[in-house]
Amino acid sequence: MNETIKTDVCIVGAGPAGASTSLMLAKLKIPHVIIDKAVFPRDKTCGDGLILYAYKALSILDDQLLKDFLKHPKFLHSKQGRLHINNDLNVLFKESEDRGSLITYAKRIDFDYFLVNRLSKEYATTEFGNEVKKLEEQEDGVLVKLKDGKQILTKVVVGADGIQSVVSRKLAKNTIDRSKTSTFINSYFEGVEGLPANLEAEVRMHYKKIPLFFYIFPLTDNQVNVSLGGNAESIQKHGINLREEVEQIIKTHPKVAHRFTKATQVGNWRGWGIPCHFEKVNVSGNRFLLVGDAAGLANAFYKEGVGTGMMSGILCARKIAECIEQDDFSAEFLASYQTDLQNEFGRFLKFSELAMRFAKYRRSFAGMASIFRKRVERGAPAVIKRKSC
Ligand SMILES: Cc1cc2nc3c(=O)[nH]c(=O)nc-3n(C[C@H](O)[C@H](O)[C@H](O)COP(=O)(O)OP(=O)(O)OC[C@H]3O[C@@H](n4cnc5c(N)ncnc54)[C@H](O)[C@@H]3O)c2cc1C
Repeated sequence: MNETIKTDVCIVGAGPAGASTSLMLAKLKIPHVIIDKAVFPRDKTCGDGLILYAYKALSILDDQLLKDFLKHPKFLHSKQGRLHINNDLNVLFKESEDRGSLITYAKRIDFDYFLVNRLSKEYATTEFGNEVKKLEEQEDGVLVKLKDGKQILTKVVVGADGIQSVVSRKLAKNTIDRSKTSTFINSYFEGVEGLPANLEAEVRMHYKKIPLFFYIFPLTDNQVNVSLGGNAESIQKHGINLREEVEQIIKTHPKVAHRFTKATQVGNWRGWGIPCHFEKVNVSGNRFLLVGDAAGLANAFYKEGVGTGMMSGILCARKIAECIEQDDFSAEFLASYQTDLQNEFGRFLKFSELAMRFAKYRRSFAGMASIFRKRVERGAPAVIKRKSC
């Protein structure tokens, strides 16, 4: 018979959302268990660009954490990014003069390890390299069953296990809505020439029956992260092959191809989903809360999922502190977590969804962008500043 470990809180997943939940719980002096099927450092398919909420979350978690992040030798920081709507029209996004960076480029193998390395020795019990296979609701808690036979009985479970979350499927009964999911592929390249000055983030709209987003983000070691993707349902409906498409861009695009002539690909193309399910899925219920991709919190337009995941972890930990104080882990008590997410992300995520709807109409989107370009360029720093402080 396997021994059953008892805890108040069990986090499933130690990506940015799970690690931030753990860091915040430790800050609130709440002991917990955190499980991941991977052993860190582990890689994750991503564009590797950290924006708005990542800065906000890091500064809330610990000022020193933010300082260490800003001087980490493998992370690059830039004060600007450019959205190229077509070959002649682009919108520049800049961080305001008095602030730090607009975007940080950090390979996920390094960034996730950076966070996991900071988990509290006092409050966090780690269980890495062990997968959650089953979750059983019991009267006095949820029984979490691991691959190696270990069992954890917890008063509340945090689902931080990404888009394919077992907690979301089993406890929240959520399913993945492909119409609200993006599919992206990415790969690393070495030796790309003519990158924009100031490590500027390069984002290009690429119209192929549907709008696709093409990113080039600079990294250390003379590498760049190249990614391409768009709405999962539309990609499938129009039979778009993202790999063929991205290779075509790299070979023939008038503003891109000449920069890749001496470049070599490092590793393969890898694909994964980005869930933008905000307000469309259950994020809490009896004895569980979901964070990050498990809660579908990625931004539909910016594709920011790391920062929103981290910020949701902070909100989730605060909610757990209230539960423990009141000794109430019921669905009714946890329901206000949805309101917390709504207050934090609501307007921004809805605006991004709206922007995506306009992006579909190539001519109107370009027309609007050229009319409002100056206003967006002037207004963006204020919005960015509000969200990242
Ligand atoms: C190609 C691509 C480009 C992207 N670009 C960006 C970008 O530039 N910026 C940005 O902010 N976001 C980007 N995203 C989105 C971002 O990667 C995610 O939103 C982010 O990783 C979500 O973090 P998370 O902690 O919720 O989940 P994850 O990072 O997926 O972490 C989940 C963790 O749970 C673990 N796990 C899963 N199942 C189990 C289980 N059963 N038992 C135990 N452990 C389990 C996994 O091993 C993993 O460590 C991109 C996504 C893709 C696919």
